[in-house]
Amino acid sequence: MKRNIDKLRAWQQRSRKPMKRTKLQPVSQKRKSAAPARKRCLVVVRERCEGRCEFPDCQSAMQDGHERLARSQGGSPSDPANVIGLCRKHHEWVTQNMNAARTMGLAK
Ligand SMILES: [Zn+2]
Repeated sequence: MKRNIDKLRAWQQRSRKPMKRTKLQPVSQKRKSAAPARKRCLVVVRERCEGRCEFPDCQSAMQDGHERLARSQGGSPSDPANVIGLCRKHHEWVTQNMNAARTMGLAK
């Protein structure tokens, strides 16, 4: 019994330690300078889709802007023609099922 109490006290001491936090990564200068254009683009996209996910038959609220042609492939994150509004669930689906998304016109 005594040992259990010692264990409990040791655990309590440990849990009083402040939580370790990972330092936030600084935003790159490139991302920082692109942020206002991205915001303006998302405003246009949100108006176009009336705040709803653009995935067929989905009525959920738009949560993400998805670039049909990825930034890594030269796609513009600030061109509303390249960005569609998706709910989080469908954004994940699109990124995990690129071939199916391409045939649906959600990705290039
Ligand atoms: Zn959706």
